[in-house]
Amino acid sequence: MELKDKVIVVTGGGRGLGRAMALELAGKGAKLALVDLNQEDLDETAGLCMELGVEARTYITNVAEEAEVEQLFSDITRDFSTINGLVNNAGITRDGLFLKAKDGQVISKMSMEQWNQVISVNLTGTFLCAREAAAKMIETGSEGCIINISSVSRSGNMGQTNYTATKAGVQAMAVTWSKELARYGIRAASIAPGYIGTEMVMSMKEEAREKIAAGIPAKRLGKPEEIAKTVSFIFENDYVNGRCIEVDGALRI
Ligand code: NAD
Repeated sequence: MELKDKVIVVTGGGRGLGRAMALELAGKGAKLALVDLNQEDLDETAGLCMELGVEARTYITNVAEEAEVEQLFSDITRDFSTINGLVNNAGITRDGLFLKAKDGQVISKMSMEQWNQVISVNLTGTFLCAREAAAKMIETGSEGCIINISSVSRSGNMGQTNYTATKAGVQAMAVTWSKELARYGIRAASIAPGYIGTEMVMSMKEEAREKIAAGIPAKRLGKPEEIAKTVSFIFENDYVNGRCIEVDGALRI
């Protein structure tokens, strides 16, 4: 798929990896539908995209809410006439140990709130956005591609029972969609970033970040642009389907 003039939806497009993806795609001439919770962040990303000479529109939507997501994709199709691509990038962490015990007594557990929040945004949000995007791609007769942002954590990571479940889930869903949607000319794939220097990682304690960087062969965190380039690679290469591309500097958890 050539990106010039294609309509690409980026969830979580207000900042971090989503902003880098939007700029990468804008640089290739794509039109952007940017989705997030914060209008100021969205406006900043859209402004930067428009400076590159492309159309960029913003949509405030909670990806975890079915009615909001249905409305979102109707609005995007009304505004742009079609949808060619979706990056399911919006995601959150609510880290904590599964259980903590001392002297044979359990002193804390991961709460249902921690569990449900992460499942709702990362897993349900990805499911809903992909379902509605695929429906619009089919209805408007456009070729399409869906990219889910997974994580190196998808194979299990301390303190992330909730998050790892969602990141394994979004990878598996991309495989399922690649099988189910090929008949409609829609591809699906995922990207598993390692640790990248965005708000999500920079909000960790410095000591923890240093420990992580020390365990990466390159001894540095990844850059948002390094993930963004992988997004355009998948969109542009029609034979990439169903697979997960790991962009993690050879980090293995
Ligand atoms: P970030 O926190 O900087 O940005 C996430 C964006 O998603 C924010 O703008 C936030 O407002 C938005 N968002 C959150 N909940 C939302 C909701 N319910 N509806 C709509 N938008 C919502 O994070 P990031 O580092 O840019 O991460 C982007 C994605 O990449 C996430 O899915 C994350 O799990 C994944 N990831 C990040 C890293 C990393 O090291 N930064 C590594 C692996 C995977």
